[in-house]
Amino acid sequence: MQKIKKVCVYCGSSDKVDPKYFEATKTLAKSLVKNNITVVYGGGARGLMGQLADTVIEEKGRIIGIMPHFMKEVEFHHKDVNEFIFTADMHERKKQFMVGVDALITLPGGCGTFEELMEAITLKRLGIFTKPIVILNLDGYYDKLFDMLDLTVEEGFMGEKHKDIWTPFENPAKVIEAINTSVPWSHDAIKFAQV
Ligand code: AMP
Repeated sequence: MQKIKKVCVYCGSSDKVDPKYFEATKTLAKSLVKNNITVVYGGGARGLMGQLADTVIEEKGRIIGIMPHFMKEVEFHHKDVNEFIFTADMHERKKQFMVGVDALITLPGGCGTFEELMEAITLKRLGIFTKPIVILNLDGYYDKLFDMLDLTVEEGFMGEKHKDIWTPFENPAKVIEAINTSVPWSHDAIKFAQV
């Protein structure tokens, strides 16, 4: 089993969500720090993004924010993260999220989180990205997304094997287990990318 050194976390930027989402983010962040894992994220100071960074910093872990310049200009960035990478645009930022990470973790979020997740799934289907993609389905938040993905398979838009691209998990304390039990993937996925 490959040692997990660095992960990227996609999560929501809204503050107006139930406290249970903040609690889950805290638990997950603590688990990552306890395992000496560097965290890469979108650099935000609010919502689950802010909670993630606050907790990693409090627990004395390492967190890197990646954000386009225009977001810094409107003060979206968290002021205390260990390192910041500012990108020209959103496309470059999404590309950077995947560089050198051992897994991608998706927490509940809105359209920005969905977009990041869907790009990662698409690249993995093509064999360009091969690392585990784990999705925290807290209290069924992502049930409808999983139903939709199942429907794409049922209707022939994706193949059965493509369901191995992502790994749902429900307990934020079990994030490492979710990563380690993900189905191994390789660049050969391009051979069955087409249905
Ligand atoms: P969402 O899941 O829609 O909240 O989107 C999270 C993503 O939205 C982030 O990765 C950013 O692309 C963007 N975003 C929206 N608002 C903010 C914010 N205040 N700070 C940082 N990123 C934000």
